[in-house]
Amino acid sequence: MQTALEIRQLCKAYSGTFAVRDLSFQIEGGEIFGLLGPNGAGKSTTINMIGGVTRPDSGSILVFGHDNQSDYRTTRRQVGVMHQEVVIDNFFTIDQTLRFHAGYYGVADDPAWRQRLIERLGLGPHLHKVMIKLSGGTKRRFMIAKAMIHKPRLLILDEPTAGVDVELRHTLWEFVRELNREGTTILLTTHYLEEAEQMCNRIAIMNHGELLALEPTASLVERLGSRQVQIRLAVRLTELPAELACHEAHLSDDGLLLRLTLPASQPLGELLELCRFLGLAIDDLSTDTAGLEEIFLQLTGNPAKESLR
Ligand code: ADP
Repeated sequence: MQTALEIRQLCKAYSGTFAVRDLSFQIEGGEIFGLLGPNGAGKSTTINMIGGVTRPDSGSILVFGHDNQSDYRTTRRQVGVMHQEVVIDNFFTIDQTLRFHAGYYGVADDPAWRQRLIERLGLGPHLHKVMIKLSGGTKRRFMIAKAMIHKPRLLILDEPTAGVDVELRHTLWEFVRELNREGTTILLTTHYLEEAEQMCNRIAIMNHGELLALEPTASLVERLGSRQVQIRLAVRLTELPAELACHEAHLSDDGLLLRLTLPASQPLGELLELCRFLGLAIDDLSTDTAGLEEIFLQLTGNPAKESLR
């Protein structure tokens, strides 16, 4: 499939400080691609440059092969952006906005498509309400409909589920998957790392405007994710053997439960051999693979829950 987005050596600085620095990556057509990073990493600046709202200082952005600066008319039609902050005109109804919004991109209104968006996003009961009367959740659903009304081939979702309840999150992701199955390429940011892990084929992690990692989600988790190992001992241990210090070992007060961290690159067998060598009597053992949360912390030094927004 054609490359949906190609970013080459993109730079943007504000008052001499880089918000995005020498950023290059590519998204293939049909992907669901996650762009993650702590607050201030440069995600929104990147998205705003792709959407043509912010002008890069240098570098280029190609959308389905078209340069988004020299060929802006073509690229703006191919990109739909759902921005993080709710940008709406309070005095129009949902129906009015959706009817006229496609024209803004030079695309004719398609009533069947408009109707499908209204139905799939549960906007029917709210069609004739003015924006100011809508609840937060309805505004979010409307924002997706608005971003999709001109049938863009690349849909960009900046924190689509921030502050949205679990049920609506589920509905939104289900719809995003449906659009993706039908051929829409998705670029998303989210601070729910488990959602990124479930949704995205590939994940890029940014910090200080630069790329720290870009890999298929599974291999990122596999490569960087360490495992937590819990060992229940048959015989009480009075103190931690020094040989386990490198595994960030922790012994429970009753001396019967040992918690260890095993780097992804180290086989469990090696740890078991070490335990045998130390004469530990193992009664039971369980492992838990660290997810994106742990990886994010390793790469950025920030706990995700505090630093993402
Ligand atoms: P993220 O979306 O990852 O939280 P942003 O792209 O919003 O990060 O911000 C990256 C950096 O650029 C931050 O340090 C932010 O303060 C700065 N920045 C973003 N937009 C502006 C702007 N319009 N004026 C000045 N500084 C900005």
